[in-house]
Amino acid sequence: MLSPRQLFLLNTAQTSPFPRLLEIEKAEGMYLYDYSGKRYMDLVSGFAVSNIGHRHPRVVQAIKNQADRYLHLTVYGEFVQSPQVKFAEKLCSIIPRPLSSVYFVNSGAEATEGAMKLAKRFTGRSDLVACINSYHGSTHGALSVMGNEYYKQAYRPLLPGIRFIQFNRLEDLEQINTETAAIIMETIQGEAGVRTPDLEYMQALRKRCDETGTLLILDEIQTGFGRTGKLFAFEHYQIQPDILLLAKGMGGGMPIGAFISSIEIMSVLKENPILGHITTFGGHPLSCAAGLANLEVILEENLFKDVDLKESFFRKHLQHPEIKEIRGKGLMLSIQLSNFAQVEYVSNYCSEKGVIIDWFLHCDHAMRIAPPLIISEAEIKSACQIIIEALDSWTKKLQ
Ligand code: PLP
Repeated sequence: MLSPRQLFLLNTAQTSPFPRLLEIEKAEGMYLYDYSGKRYMDLVSGFAVSNIGHRHPRVVQAIKNQADRYLHLTVYGEFVQSPQVKFAEKLCSIIPRPLSSVYFVNSGAEATEGAMKLAKRFTGRSDLVACINSYHGSTHGALSVMGNEYYKQAYRPLLPGIRFIQFNRLEDLEQINTETAAIIMETIQGEAGVRTPDLEYMQALRKRCDETGTLLILDEIQTGFGRTGKLFAFEHYQIQPDILLLAKGMGGGMPIGAFISSIEIMSVLKENPILGHITTFGGHPLSCAAGLANLEVILEENLFKDVDLKESFFRKHLQHPEIKEIRGKGLMLSIQLSNFAQVEYVSNYCSEKGVIIDWFLHCDHAMRIAPPLIISEAEIKSACQIIIEALDSWTKKLQ
């Protein structure tokens, strides 16, 4: 008989030749537990998903309550489903006007797809601008605006009319012109190894979009829901997007995404043609119920308030000659090492010792630190001790 691991490798489609292969039985709060009872501290949050920790009781209860009422009823946009209505109302109460129309989808990539279509329809233009080293998802449209040829080359032809600019380079904003439907940008670049833009740049970006009638799509799929110390990262820059993309930390561990815009902009999707963008499962009742509970926990417990302090604990405890730089904001950090072999060694060492870290798509010499926002100072300290131990062990190995 084959083991679960062998069956995973055989029957579950694989995404790389080197999956992590941890077999997790249960997760709670900051921790994952394998079948032997070994505990792992999660410093990745399932890639910026479990912002309030795993299986938060309020989220689990909300899912159970909704499961007792109904699951899927019909396609998105037809029936008045109270989990969607309540969640959309709550989201609109925390996102600045005029963004007050939420289109629920199932994932980040779908939010990207919807936003790209929406920008084309609203502006009547087809050109898009995106950033080098960006990541907005893996579907064809989202791949077209990904700023890394390595991941795109095998899938060409992709969407035409896309221009790439350097993130955070003021001069490049000239490339946005009156033919550009939208610029799509992560407010803080994640897979690039966490790149934070300057205030001046973000304000100039907003200004350039206004001057040229270009829509600003900010992808907060990774940065949203408190990860950078504000509910949304655009708040650091005193600007706001025309279309906001959310997913990951939005559902408290359930699959959901959204693109959010003004009623005026969003309304173009419903006519000429009607049903301009449709989805069967978007805004699933269980996901919306979970998302509302997740957001209530973040707001009531002010979970993003201590994020800056927790960032400073990481910076204090992560001091080692092998660490070249710590980049990032809040609990979205990138620890710059020298090469991928070192990152892989440290990651494996930490995993052995019960701490999960990871790396980035476009920056293979850096370690990803993105724990649930509930992480305590003591947990930060003990996780950092293990990372330092791993770096010491690497240094010793080289001698
Ligand atoms: N946008 C950003 C910034 C992301 O980090 C990701 C996923 O990592 C996506 C979009 C795509 O989200 P999903 O994997 O849910 O399609």
